[in-house]
Amino acid sequence: MELSRREFLKASGMGMGGVFLFGMFDPELAQAQVPRLLPLKKKIGEKSTICPYDASGCGFLVAAVNGKVVNIEGDPDHPINRGGACAKGASMRQLSADNPWRLSKVLYRAPGGNQWQEKSWEWALNEIARRIKDTRDANFTERNDTGQLVNRTEAIANLGGSALDNEECYLLAKLTRALGVVYLEHHARI
Ligand code: SF4
Repeated sequence: MELSRREFLKASGMGMGGVFLFGMFDPELAQAQVPRLLPLKKKIGEKSTICPYDASGCGFLVAAVNGKVVNIEGDPDHPINRGGACAKGASMRQLSADNPWRLSKVLYRAPGGNQWQEKSWEWALNEIARRIKDTRDANFTERNDTGQLVNRTEAIANLGGSALDNEECYLLAKLTRALGVVYLEHHARI
């Protein structure tokens, strides 16, 4: 059976609405609704993912049609959230690449300036690399006051954000540790 986007949303919306309403009064009946919906979801190739917002690590299902995200909802098979989603996780679609509100160009505000300037990615990446290198070179500590080898810089800090996924966090930690950055945090842990 082929499903249009409208048909899918209608079917899954009605189904999930039923799950929600039934779930308020009868959890067993709500759970029984879920398997009925899964074949519909497989039709449009839902993929599982992990919510990036905090360390709970809730599981979600993302449905995309023609490269556009059409639905994101809690994964009923995930052991942590079992289909649930807090308000923040439920708004995860805002992070999707096809969100029209996402910035797609580099905007730069110079020190002391009050205007945003549009820049190229090449300019931005070179500028970031140059500033990191200059700051690290000017503030690198090879040994501490007692002579211990520390190889660190305390002039650079890195604060991760919600849109980073596990793999990006891993790479970022590798990069910053290699530079000698000791102040490495993620907002979900603060
Ligand atoms: S759904 Fe909510 S509780 Fe779960 S990981 Fe995302 S933000 Fe955290």
